[in-house]
Amino acid sequence: MDDLKLPLFLGGFALFFLIEGIAAKRPWQEPRGKRLRMHAAVAVFNTVVLKLLILAPFLYWTEYIAKQGWGLAPMLGYSGVGGIVATLIVLDMFDYWWHRFNHRVGLLWRFHKVHHVDTHVDVTTALRFHPGELFISFFVKLVWIGAWGPSLAGFVAFEIGVSLASQFHHSNIDFPERWERMLRLFIVTPRFHTSHHTVSRRTGDANFATIFIVWDRLFGTYQEPDGKELEHLGLPEGRDDYLSFLAWLTEPLSPRNANQADPERRTTS
Ligand SMILES: [Zn+2]
Repeated sequence: MDDLKLPLFLGGFALFFLIEGIAAKRPWQEPRGKRLRMHAAVAVFNTVVLKLLILAPFLYWTEYIAKQGWGLAPMLGYSGVGGIVATLIVLDMFDYWWHRFNHRVGLLWRFHKVHHVDTHVDVTTALRFHPGELFISFFVKLVWIGAWGPSLAGFVAFEIGVSLASQFHHSNIDFPERWERMLRLFIVTPRFHTSHHTVSRRTGDANFATIFIVWDRLFGTYQEPDGKELEHLGLPEGRDDYLSFLAWLTEPLSPRNANQADPERRTTS
């Protein structure tokens, strides 16, 4: 099942990139090739620097936990397809809380904001994460895996689910109102997630879910997307150099973070 990860990732990416080309919701501020080049460079850099360091111990840990039968999932008797579905739901909930933490804790926000500096959300934004964030999440995920104890197949299914959901909900596409309402009962739609990328912190510090939308509703962070707010994406700062590789890499160290350590003091507009 692990072999499916790369082809599904590349296939999903190509599919959403194609659909955006045919039916983009927002006009392109920059040539798409320029965005693709920058974010592909980010993805390659992250893959080389981190995945090579992290992937082996990660898989080893997941396999070790599964073999030992540790965690809540085996205790509750989850296995087979039921276990995979339960893993998808439970880890998606963990992901929701981790994402919420990334917005609340100053140090985590320094890394996570690099994803939000993009003033134009599309499928390539799904690649735009800082290696520092990925590195910290690696340790957090080790804890989740130890606590939940997913099967290897369950964990891979979750990773595939997250990457396809992320490509989908960052895409520069939109659905007719009726479809949007129906889809949004269950999953995170492009409109809903784009509202998490608005300069306005009303929806920017809300709407955290990745795959299933239920977590925002359940934990009180659901905010209705607003058409006016959706016209202004990104953050107040870093708007001129968001497609610079160096600015992307050094953003967590930028002096403009000094007065933003407390997320409560972030600019609201
Ligand atoms: Zn976020």
